[in-house]
Amino acid sequence: MAGRLVVVSNRVGPVRGATRAGGLAVALVDALREAGGLWFGWSGRITEPGAGAGGVTEEHYRGITTATLDLTPDEHHDYYNGFANQCLWPLFHYRIDLTAYERRFYEGYQRVNVRFAQALQPLLRPDDILWVHDYHLIPFAETLRAMEQRQRIGFFLHIPFPSREVVLALPHHDRLAKSLMAYDLIGFHTQRDVERFVDYMVNELGGEFRDGRLRAFGREAVVKAFPIGIDTKAYADFVYTEDGQRQWQRVKSALRGRTQIIGVDRLDYTKGIPERFAAFERLLADYPDARGRVEFLQVAPLSREGVNEYAEIRSRLEGAASRINGHYAEVDWTPLHYINRTVSRRALAGLYRASKIGLVTPLRDGMNLVAKEYVAAQDPEDPGVLVLSRFAGSAWQMKSALIINPYDTVEVAEALQTARYMPLDERKTRHAELMKGLLEDDVTHWRRSYLQALDAA
Ligand code: UDP
Repeated sequence: MAGRLVVVSNRVGPVRGATRAGGLAVALVDALREAGGLWFGWSGRITEPGAGAGGVTEEHYRGITTATLDLTPDEHHDYYNGFANQCLWPLFHYRIDLTAYERRFYEGYQRVNVRFAQALQPLLRPDDILWVHDYHLIPFAETLRAMEQRQRIGFFLHIPFPSREVVLALPHHDRLAKSLMAYDLIGFHTQRDVERFVDYMVNELGGEFRDGRLRAFGREAVVKAFPIGIDTKAYADFVYTEDGQRQWQRVKSALRGRTQIIGVDRLDYTKGIPERFAAFERLLADYPDARGRVEFLQVAPLSREGVNEYAEIRSRLEGAASRINGHYAEVDWTPLHYINRTVSRRALAGLYRASKIGLVTPLRDGMNLVAKEYVAAQDPEDPGVLVLSRFAGSAWQMKSALIINPYDTVEVAEALQTARYMPLDERKTRHAELMKGLLEDDVTHWRRSYLQALDAA
């Protein structure tokens, strides 16, 4: 790659503690190191206007520069909590019912995108390559283009792109679509997302699509799928770290030979956690041999607590968890363990390893990395079974998992029962097939193929 890499994302991740923060942060930091780069975005701080919220803070660490801006309370309310997390997030996950559109949210979103682009512009060099991430920043490049910035600029959407009829429910959708065309490369997780985006752009907005190139609004962009992966080898090694080992041993001795099912998600309404609880309840109801022999551990750290819907799903789940335990628990057996704290990535690896079944049931998910981590943490000689929603982007790659419809609790309960009794040979075959995919399409492959495509765009 020729020029310097400039990564733009809503939050600038930790450059020093990237390994702790997770796969995407590591991948981006590696890419920035290779090309000597700049990472630009929100600092995570909220500052009153006039109290320094306008200025860029630059920091340097091992060849990487971070440049961050604070948000004002209004910007945080309208741009971040409002348009990003109460409009785009639910809508793109097919939850029109939860989409709270307000004109001021949209205006705040546009304003922050313009302010951020204006703040970045003086830091740019003519041969930079820009990689802009996710739904917070759809209009970002348009402002740069209006300021005569001609660098290559790519966009990557980390959430699903929904069907055309759903997009139409968003006021100003066509304005956002037009601003997307300021990018040279528009990347999605799956070919399905590409198809839905192209269908919308062509059949709704009069664009033309040929040989992977989209023409619309007088501009042309390459549109392509780049399924994100995990750092598969490194993740498998997490099991053998001190934290990984401690959790693994701790759970193993607590289980006393019982089978553990594990679910791990940010507490979000897209993750299908209530449906998962219902499927577990179905398992206990329909298969009496599971009672006393199976435990379900759900790790669900709280997320976006400033948004109402998140408080609602939390109390719904607390109700369901105590109902299930109230009905089925014995003095020496608690069927459901529900934890709202964040578990470290290394400790999680140990929990996955101790769990014979990984249960991943999002109602919609751009990719879902938990599914991939669960598989990477298994013992190849005695692996657990992944039960995976067909509505996770990862299901398009992970065809050797037990693929289920998360709305069908009977089907999910049956899959859990199948997983419980799956013979070792079949578990090993499925695991080997899944691992092959995870090793080939890992996170390094993802970022390299995206940046190559951007370079060529
Ligand atoms: N995660 C974690 N600790 C937790 C819960 C989740 O480190 O207590 C991590 C998990 O290992 C995964 C990420 O958070 O890497 C979640 O990514 P995913 O794609 O599954 O869902 P998202 O939260 O991005 O919608």
